[in-house]
Amino acid sequence: MELTSMKNIKEIQQKFGFTFKKGLGQNFLTSAAVIDKIVDAADCENGVIEIGPGFGVLTHALSEKSKKVVSVEIDERLVEVLEYTLSDCDNVKIINADVLKTDLKKIIRDEFGGVKISVAANLPYYITTPIIIKLIEDKLPLDSIVVMVQKEVAQRICAMPSTKDYGAISVLCQYYAEPSVVTEVKASLFVPPPKVDSAVLKLKLRDRPPVITNDETMFFKCVKAAFSKRRKTLLNCLSSFFGMDKGLLTEAMERINIAPSRRGETLTLQEFAALADMLCCLQR
Ligand code: SAM
Repeated sequence: MELTSMKNIKEIQQKFGFTFKKGLGQNFLTSAAVIDKIVDAADCENGVIEIGPGFGVLTHALSEKSKKVVSVEIDERLVEVLEYTLSDCDNVKIINADVLKTDLKKIIRDEFGGVKISVAANLPYYITTPIIIKLIEDKLPLDSIVVMVQKEVAQRICAMPSTKDYGAISVLCQYYAEPSVVTEVKASLFVPPPKVDSAVLKLKLRDRPPVITNDETMFFKCVKAAFSKRRKTLLNCLSSFFGMDKGLLTEAMERINIAPSRRGETLTLQEFAALADMLCCLQR
């Protein structure tokens, strides 16, 4: 069954009495070309976890390329719909759960034998950022994450220092992955159409971070501090976040060639690493 066809979507809705729940971010994709781009970008041959299968339009396409698909769907009304739409796919498992409360490490161990797999999804937009943060911070054995997100979120994740979009999420994603935009997607290609345009974002997970720091926890504390008050200087952000003397901090920052008057959003990953190592020394 062609699940991108409006006629078929309406038929399924009628058959199961299904209405879209806005609160669950239910904007279903109706473009076969976009589905193809997601599947092409996903390194999913060994296996893939999908978040939010909806009627199964992406699930179906993934099941043709991947050895096994595990799809996590929060809406229990969709379980019987998926049994119907995916009846010809014998390598798909549906888990009815909230992805944010799901132990994905256990799924990868139990369902995929712990090998590196990928994540692919048309994400529910009300929780895009928490899902991406979870996927990264859980340190899962993943090759890549290919997800449909709001265009602005994709821009923030890919942003370079000294641009308005650069923030803590850019640093987090760029530290653990190489982000890129696969394609932009117009709101009119979803049913119902969301209020914003979208983009397919690919995060190719790195084997090792692009910069070396002696203390990753301190690195991310510095990132949090630097972006905590965007209008303040880095010196002010750091001294209030860490409760440290400004004179001491000024001297130490000058030693690593980071001007205390700079704003957090101008720092490269390399500079965050230098800052973290310097703060570790100061706090010893
Ligand atoms: N994959 C389908 C498609 O592309 O047409 C549907 C995508 S729709 C944007 C998001 C899907 O995520 C919906 O099916 C929704 O019910 C599901 N969802 C929302 N919140 C979720 C959560 N916390 N955990 C798992 N699935 C969720």
